[in-house]
Amino acid sequence: MANNLITSDYSVIKKAAEKIKEAERVIAFTGAGISVESGIPPFRGPDGLWSRYDPVVLDMNYFLNNPEDSWKVIKEIFYDFFGKAAPNPAHYALAELEKEGIIKNIITQNIDNLHQQAGSRNVIEFHGTSRTLACVNCGKKISFHEGLLESLPPRCSECTGLLKPDFIFFGEGIPHQAYSSSIFETSNADLWILVGTTGEIMPASMLPVNASENGAYIIEVNINESNYTGSITDLFIKGKASGVLSSIKKLILEE
Ligand code: ZN
Repeated sequence: MANNLITSDYSVIKKAAEKIKEAERVIAFTGAGISVESGIPPFRGPDGLWSRYDPVVLDMNYFLNNPEDSWKVIKEIFYDFFGKAAPNPAHYALAELEKEGIIKNIITQNIDNLHQQAGSRNVIEFHGTSRTLACVNCGKKISFHEGLLESLPPRCSECTGLLKPDFIFFGEGIPHQAYSSSIFETSNADLWILVGTTGEIMPASMLPVNASENGAYIIEVNINESNYTGSITDLFIKGKASGVLSSIKKLILEE
């Protein structure tokens, strides 16, 4: 079945399941690849979102000077389009493994909220979230609801300042809490499962490298080899995230 395409030998999946069962503290580290099967294209690459939209809308200076223009595009991509996406079996498999105490935390580079929609509770959003907006003037945070975007740009109810999505724009720093929690896991988790991430976006890409240097076992699930394969990856599983993670989950929970 094309949808569950796994080109790695089944013994590799079995080995992954065994390693995960043996590990004491397991982290899933996810990137754009896990959401592709939910209909969300990656940002980069020939079919990526940035081939259709101008990334300048996420430049802080441009945003502050052209909030209405920026927000039109931000609404279209991150709220209208992403808002329609639903979790896929890969998100659900991770959520179930967390529920059963197998996975401790998910560190995601995605801002699509699909892990939470699938039921995951311990999600560290390394690049922030689209589900809250923050006032650039007074810092007030407001939970997202569609009414906020009825007229653009959205304004703060306290001070009428401009509201910005609470995910990071180009050049902005990683949210403090997400950063420190992630760094903690690079020295405390003994197994990392990398899913749908190719290791191109700094500083997120360094987290698994640091974890590996600290002795963590690295399992990588990707449709193609990445920067990690052949460097820090201990076990590479070539295949779609949904098929691979569903198989691993079955082996761990149903045996
Ligand atoms: Zn405000």
